[in-house]
Amino acid sequence: MKYTEIRKNIWQISDDDGVYCTLVRGDSLAVLWDTGYGKQDIRSFVEENVQTEYIVINSHGHPDHIGGNRQFENIYAGEDAFDEILYFSKTISSAPVRYNLKKLNIGQRLDLGGIHGRIISLAGHTKGSVGLLIEEERLLLAGDALNPCLWIFNYGAMPTNQLKKTLENLEETEFDNYLCGHSDKEIPREFLKIHMKNITSMSIENSVKGITIGFETYESICEDKNGKSIIVYDRKLLID
Ligand SMILES: [Zn+2]
Repeated sequence: MKYTEIRKNIWQISDDDGVYCTLVRGDSLAVLWDTGYGKQDIRSFVEENVQTEYIVINSHGHPDHIGGNRQFENIYAGEDAFDEILYFSKTISSAPVRYNLKKLNIGQRLDLGGIHGRIISLAGHTKGSVGLLIEEERLLLAGDALNPCLWIFNYGAMPTNQLKKTLENLEETEFDNYLCGHSDKEIPREFLKIHMKNITSMSIENSVKGITIGFETYESICEDKNGKSIIVYDRKLLID
């Protein structure tokens, strides 16, 4: 496993180029945020690098974030993500799922010892997408929900008006930077302004039609001083 120390006790770890899980180590509890493709023994990596109890949380149900779930007995997720986790786990393996899915509530606070996490809804990319706000660090672990190239299609994806609501809610949320599941660099919250600009102005006419992992999609691009937002969506989900 490769890892990058983002901040003290916060590591971005990878079992495959381009997909990252996050390990957060508190004084009494650690969190493994996502399990990657499951190509390597992520459980041993965690147990070699954590001296406390730990829990495993899925940010959402896509296969590149839940592939290592089968290495563990218990997986925590937002209740709305259970269905997408079970759906995509079947695309990875036909073997029955043996781990227990355990519910995290939106707003739930996790005391890791010296550091606290809070579960927030990031519905849009998928219905069950959640973020973990590391309060003392003002850092949000966002899974795929706020990726610079944001996908809104495939099983579980929500209409674009839900993504807009999530972006509005984040304007009231206290954080400075976020981490996403496909980069080991922090992204400043200002970047979300360009996503908001994109989502409020997007139209079929100004989007480019294409095929993305086998799905017919439309791509809307918006660029300014904050960066470049790409939203790839299913036209049926474009709702004002
Ligand atoms: Zn995803």
